[in-house]
Amino acid sequence: ARMAEEDAVVVIGLGRFGSSLAIELMESGTEVLGIDADEDIVQAHNGLLTHVVRADSTKEETLRQLSVPDFSSVVVAIGGDIQANILTASLLLKMGIPNIWAKAVSEPHGKILEQLGVAHVVRPEKEMGKRVAHLVRGVMQDYIEIGENFALVKMATPPDLVGVPLGQARVRATHFVTVTAYNRPGSGWSYTTVDTVLEAGDTILVAGESRRVEAFSLLR
Ligand code: ADP
Repeated sequence: ARMAEEDAVVVIGLGRFGSSLAIELMESGTEVLGIDADEDIVQAHNGLLTHVVRADSTKEETLRQLSVPDFSSVVVAIGGDIQANILTASLLLKMGIPNIWAKAVSEPHGKILEQLGVAHVVRPEKEMGKRVAHLVRGVMQDYIEIGENFALVKMATPPDLVGVPLGQARVRATHFVTVTAYNRPGSGWSYTTVDTVLEAGDTILVAGESRRVEAFSLLR
């Protein structure tokens, strides 16, 4: 079966990171061409991805044979071999792939990828470390940093906000954050309005500058 290259994604390197990324894409309905240099890894992904190919992504000719230049999104998920990661990313840039994502294993590696022109450099260890730090503190149930200094946090409703319509609580004016949605046990998630009155058992989703959201999460 031919893939619709426009909507499909190429994942190069099917280690722990690339593999879970590729499988998650498949589960959310995106076709995936997986590429890995290791035969056992390729075997292990047979049937799990739309296509899996054993190939060395540092060879331009190979990438062309696999029609990689026809895809609009490619992820370089090679971790251990930094040279292969950088070489692959530079070939993809040369081919003019519109959306290139590359995993960086260290800060200097990330800097090099950015200098090359890779628009989306992901630093899984660093990002996960920051995220887990917020979770370990115990107040936040989930923490996602959206770009520089802006975060989305899932947390219990601070006592101050219980029983008062959100419009009156003046959350944005006082705490510089926005309560975007809430989850009431048994009712699921709803958007908030100025008339929403939160209850003690509600979980809320708060958006705002990272330091503001952090301060807000510590309200007791
Ligand atoms: P992780 O830390 O996510 O497990 P790894 O670096 O261990 O990442 O795995 C990356 C994968 O990339 C490995 O399965 C490896 O075989 C593959 N790989 C490494 N170099 C190349 C290359 N030049 N071409 C294709 N795949 C490669």
